[in-house]
Amino acid sequence: MLTFRTIKSLTQCLRGYRTSNLRVGFVPTMGFLHDGHRALIDESVARCDITVVSIFVNPAQFGPNEDLDRYPRALDADHELCRKAGVSMIFLPDASEIYPPGFQTTVEPGPGAEPLCGAVRPGHFRGVATVVAKLFNLVQPDVAFFGQKDFQQCAVIRQMVRDLNLPIEIVTVPTVREPDGLAMSSRNSYLGPSDRKRALCLSQGLLAAQRAYGEGERDSQRLIAIARAQITEADQLQYLELRDVGTLEAVQGMVERPAALCVAATIGQTRLIDNVLLTPPPKALSDRDLEVVSYAVARQVRPGAEGSRPS
Ligand code: AMP
Repeated sequence: MLTFRTIKSLTQCLRGYRTSNLRVGFVPTMGFLHDGHRALIDESVARCDITVVSIFVNPAQFGPNEDLDRYPRALDADHELCRKAGVSMIFLPDASEIYPPGFQTTVEPGPGAEPLCGAVRPGHFRGVATVVAKLFNLVQPDVAFFGQKDFQQCAVIRQMVRDLNLPIEIVTVPTVREPDGLAMSSRNSYLGPSDRKRALCLSQGLLAAQRAYGEGERDSQRLIAIARAQITEADQLQYLELRDVGTLEAVQGMVERPAALCVAATIGQTRLIDNVLLTPPPKALSDRDLEVVSYAVARQVRPGAEGSRPS
């Protein structure tokens, strides 16, 4: 496994591989890797000849009062996880490598970046889209892997790839959960024991709604209410919304198309997000919907089992 800290060394090495027509998979991360990241890496290693993982805590996607300075880091453990997983290259740039003096140009995502996290974190998705576009240009992968856990991020990236004609396949990998259901996240490390217990109400609420959907409930307000009834421990519920997986529009009335029930809340000082998919059987889905949810649906053994690790 090779580690590169500079753009020059990374791109020089990749140029050599590209001439040999190998399929390059790319997994962008901010490090402090856990089994959720590992699922993305495993998928890339299974599908591609070369897997590149970037570890970069991107300042451009953090707001002024957010956790950029204290974002958890564990480079040695990250290296070990990547090595064991069969990663070919780690890209580990400094902020000055990605944003050199004089840097000016950004990618402005469209309306898909406005609701949900976009409303709570102004400028966040501009920072995400810009860094992902830059990393795509540097790595030039055939396939890039993102987690369903960041549902809106997946939608923003897919839209960017379509709008800018980037020749990259985007694969969305289902959310990996702790045994008790909490979605894995680097930020879970902020949670003390009592906050860790309280955080569980988020996944419990979402999974209860997903179960109700599986049992036939289609009324969007009732599904939201089922989740809301369990989310009693959040200090601040920032949003709990049902969104269409294709358009990201809020679902009103009955759920007739694939939807994601999305939550963001603070538990103590920690902001957490999570979501579950509410999707009919694959045969009822359009091609466009399948592109967004096929991986998740293919592994959705039963409602509530979305997070089980792919075998
Ligand atoms: P991050 O390091 O938090 O920026 O995440 C890097 C990638 O890993 C993103 O595509 C995330 O959606 C994905 N990811 C993070 N947590 C999980 C999880 N629990 N399950 C699946 N993917 C995840």
